[in-house]
Amino acid sequence: MRIVLLGAPGSGKGTQAQRLVARFGVPQISTGDLLRSAVARGTPLGLKATAAMDAGALVSDEIVIAIIRERLGQMDVAGGYILDGFPRNLAQARSLASMLAAIGQPLDAVVLFNVDYGEITRRISGRRTCPNCGTIYNVHDAATPGITHCTSCAAGPALTQRPDDNEQTVTRRLAVYDEQTRPLIEHYRAQGLLRSVDAEGPVDEVTARLIAVLAPATAASRSAPMRKAKAKTKAKPKAKRKPKPKPKPKTKAKAKAKAKARGKARPKAKQRAKARLAPARKATRTSVRKTARKKARKGSRKSPRRG
Ligand code: AMP
Repeated sequence: MRIVLLGAPGSGKGTQAQRLVARFGVPQISTGDLLRSAVARGTPLGLKATAAMDAGALVSDEIVIAIIRERLGQMDVAGGYILDGFPRNLAQARSLASMLAAIGQPLDAVVLFNVDYGEITRRISGRRTCPNCGTIYNVHDAATPGITHCTSCAAGPALTQRPDDNEQTVTRRLAVYDEQTRPLIEHYRAQGLLRSVDAEGPVDEVTARLIAVLAPATAASRSAPMRKAKAKTKAKPKAKRKPKPKPKPKTKAKAKAKAKARGKARPKAKQRAKARLAPARKATRTSVRKTARKKARKGSRKSPRRG
């Protein structure tokens, strides 16, 4: 299952991606998380990305595409993935399409999260994240009102707020979404990949809607490997098995031992030689007798007649 979650910042893509990970066992690939991790580790890439992220602008395509290319080359994505926050403009979408075409693994679906912008601002201001396990909470959520510590991992650390989750940056991020990301809706609709979910309301309800719109895509991606396997079996008829040649005994000693085991011990050398000569000797004896008889007959004919 290879899907893209598309939607404005704060529309709940991250939260729902975590639910899909638990349900389908495929990894979530969030460019925002990967960039934040690079920033936290102070890598050269992180240093380049910081300014754009703090301003609520997009990080350069070059950086983001390089990150995605590297991530999609890892082993754990073989069974599929959930792309969260990528692509964010047409150039990124085209780049992703050519990466996937090169390995023959196109997207199964793109899901658009529909949320009212007023609701988005409220959600973003209440968003909190566990610095240990990454679970996302919301202090405005009825299930976790005013939550301050993680309840998902054993450490249970204090939750943190993203530096770009402030009202001023949110306004800028929404403007960037409208300008650069929104055109992707038509782009994917034209390709027949777009599905939409109403992403407002309790988290569990949104999850249920999401799973429902993904059902055809997940069924198709589950049966694809089976279809491939069946086609393979049909295309290649099983080769006939050749009978195994009987192993030849390697030495005389071995042959002897084998014959003995079968109850046919080989005759000794002298006996074998006698057996070979026997017919010849018999023939010689017969011919000697014949010659003697002939001589006797001739002799009787040659003797002078008396009288
Ligand atoms: P997110 O966590 O998805 O809201 O992303 C946080 C910030 O990371 C964004 O405001 C951007 O500055 C940056 N970012 C994440 N994904 C992308 C992307 N695909 N292209 C450019 N910038 C991105």
